[in-house]
Amino acid sequence: MRITCYSILKKVQVTGPISIAAYMRQCLTSDQGGYYTTNSQEQFGKSGDFITSPEISQVFGELVGVWFMTEWIAQGRPRSGVQFIEVGPGRGTLMSDILRTIGQFKTFASAIDCVWLVEAGEGLRQKQASALQCGEMKEVERQVWEASSKYGNGIKVRWVEDIALLPQPQTNTTPFIVAHEFFDALPIHAFESVAPRPEENESKTQLLDGAGNPMVRPSSATKVPQWRELLVTSTKRKFTLSTTPDSPKSSASNNPDPDFTLTVAKASNPSSLVLPERARYRHLKSQPSSRVEISPESSRYIQNFAQRIGSSGPSSGAALIIDYGPADTIPINSLRGIKSHSIISPFLHAGQADISADVDFGALADAALEATPNVEVHGPVEQGVFLTQLGIKERAERLINGLKTNQTQQDNDAPGGVHQKMTDFETGYKRLVEGGPRGMGKAYKAMAVLPENGGKRRPVGFGGGVVG
Ligand code: SAH
Repeated sequence: MRITCYSILKKVQVTGPISIAAYMRQCLTSDQGGYYTTNSQEQFGKSGDFITSPEISQVFGELVGVWFMTEWIAQGRPRSGVQFIEVGPGRGTLMSDILRTIGQFKTFASAIDCVWLVEAGEGLRQKQASALQCGEMKEVERQVWEASSKYGNGIKVRWVEDIALLPQPQTNTTPFIVAHEFFDALPIHAFESVAPRPEENESKTQLLDGAGNPMVRPSSATKVPQWRELLVTSTKRKFTLSTTPDSPKSSASNNPDPDFTLTVAKASNPSSLVLPERARYRHLKSQPSSRVEISPESSRYIQNFAQRIGSSGPSSGAALIIDYGPADTIPINSLRGIKSHSIISPFLHAGQADISADVDFGALADAALEATPNVEVHGPVEQGVFLTQLGIKERAERLINGLKTNQTQQDNDAPGGVHQKMTDFETGYKRLVEGGPRGMGKAYKAMAVLPENGGKRRPVGFGGGVVG
């Protein structure tokens, strides 16, 4: 059975081809059929579509909490004004592991003024509230929801739907910002460099000079390849129902034909005239068929992070971004769908499957540095390297030894018993650091934005040690 959100199909059929960015927005966060905003099914975990590092092992969130603590120490242990901001918190597992870890360090915990969560989906906001052991959630301002968490003796948790709705950066605040598997969900545009067609350079009319003599046509600027946007178009002739049985052929092959496909725009559009013309992509334009993926939404988010850290008074705070993508190349052809733990076409099950694209870490770094001269960027480094430097092996071993010491005879071999837990800790931590097809240690990268310091202090996990 194929399930495609009718409103997405209809939109594309009515408006004609749309950008990949518009398609991603429709599929992921629209009020009508968005995967994160209207889907009542579970997205995360074994019974959902995908599993993320915080859901694999509590050690991940604990070490992220430790990382922020090393920054808090290195930045002079501010006694108040610390804000935690998480964008795209999913089920809230990461923030709850961070707060539980920080709760063990009373001076740091009591310096936290507020936890801000940026989340588009209402259902997910409710799940986050329950993960953070919050009381009732109330709308305290237009589109700002608040609840009190049991962590840190009633820490205030606030939600907004978009980073633009957070309060403006203030002086004497230390924003600690975390984005885990968030940037890969932000919309991208894709462009292809297209060689001019011969007829574009040949005019039927002969040009004449002032004296009426035929003119030699100057080498035309249109001989230069042009960027064209890749657009999403429907493969269906007319509206189909939101749920349609697969054709016998496609169900037999278990590989239904996608509802949409990509097509290269016939002409330039405002996006193709602006976005790929930046210096970062210039060298590719002259090579026809080159492709690039660009995410202006990602730039908007990271610039907001940088401005919070680098603006007003002495720069302070840190942003930690963990996501998948190449370390030093521009992503291409990376849009993918994920359903029931398998990679599928991004053009199947629109609105009922996750879709994501590789994160361009170089573009994120450029955007952060363009936003303000008061920040510096470290990384990206592989997640395995980052977590190993933070001591993941030692932490996992301590947890396993703790279980060994406390085990009783009865609960040893029961399902969910001590042996099972020990195996889960072991396999979980290895999956976070190792490479290979199932491992997340190499494909995922960590990058940090910090107050500008002339590159003199490397943060922990990026080659530096604990200072302070
Ligand atoms: N960080 C979590 C969840 C990752 S999934 C984890 O690692 O488990 C992506 C998250 O970002 C979801 O919570 C989703 O609802 C949210 N999200 C995706 N696009 C968004 C957008 N444009 N604005 C706000 N939240 C968004």
